[in-house]
Amino acid sequence: MTYNELYRHIISVLKKAGIDSPAFDALCIFESKLGLTRHDLIMTGNKKAEKDQCDAVEELATKRAEGYPLQYLLGMWQFMDSEFFVGEGVLIPREDTSVVVQLCLDNIKNLYGTDNLSIIDLCAGSGAISISLAKSLPNSKVTALELSDKAMYYLQKNIQHNRCNNVEAVSGNVFTDCNITDALYDVIISNPPYIISSEIRTLQKEVQYEPVMALDGGSDGYDFYRAIISKWSKKLKSGGLLVFELGENQYDTVSDLMCSQGFKDITFATDLGNVKRGICGVSLNDKVKLG
Ligand code: GLN
Repeated sequence: MTYNELYRHIISVLKKAGIDSPAFDALCIFESKLGLTRHDLIMTGNKKAEKDQCDAVEELATKRAEGYPLQYLLGMWQFMDSEFFVGEGVLIPREDTSVVVQLCLDNIKNLYGTDNLSIIDLCAGSGAISISLAKSLPNSKVTALELSDKAMYYLQKNIQHNRCNNVEAVSGNVFTDCNITDALYDVIISNPPYIISSEIRTLQKEVQYEPVMALDGGSDGYDFYRAIISKWSKKLKSGGLLVFELGENQYDTVSDLMCSQGFKDITFATDLGNVKRGICGVSLNDKVKLG
């Protein structure tokens, strides 16, 4: 079988299985397993593929056809300007999250005009948010808090891979460990689990392979927002920012929760699907001063 024939065969396997973007997934699998890019396929597609190459590609395609996430198969995924190691036990970075990072950066620029900040990312997962912020704000220090040991493995690996000396991974629980350090922060940011528990099973097949603890926001989806807004607000300097990623239709409730805890100047950012995906509020914690 030639590479071209193998490529067409893999596309048809994925298509039959109902995979959304069979050609894209097939190309990613080819690149990851055989080191062949689209350009290589055009140039050398008529060459014979070795048996072990066919087997290797077929094995990944079979798993992908069962709904196993492409990102876990590849072991690596791009988010904003960085590469992240991913695998079972850590949430895959989503394109949507980039609008939350951008909302945070825009507010920092408007309000502080400096990047010498102390930032904490709660439920940091792979480190997509922490690492992207740290690269944009090289003089700031980012603490990445994560509870899961499996996610922590990827978080640490990603910090090293991206050479982010200004990110520190800390193991901790958002609900119980808000006094883990004495520090006060200029920015608290989080993409918390926000799916309603009973709805997780209804989500697409791929999501079922992702860690439930990164998805499950409790019976109404707001458990983490309530906990972070009530317990972590006191860790923000006055004038500091609280930034969240939101699930669909969660803007009004989270905005109300933030306002009732004394946050002001609420701004939001919409994703490509026009969902209010990010929210940012300014703290009015007058017990502590911005410094
Ligand atoms: N964005 C993820 C999804 O749509 C959910 C992540 C989260 O709960 N924070 O599946």
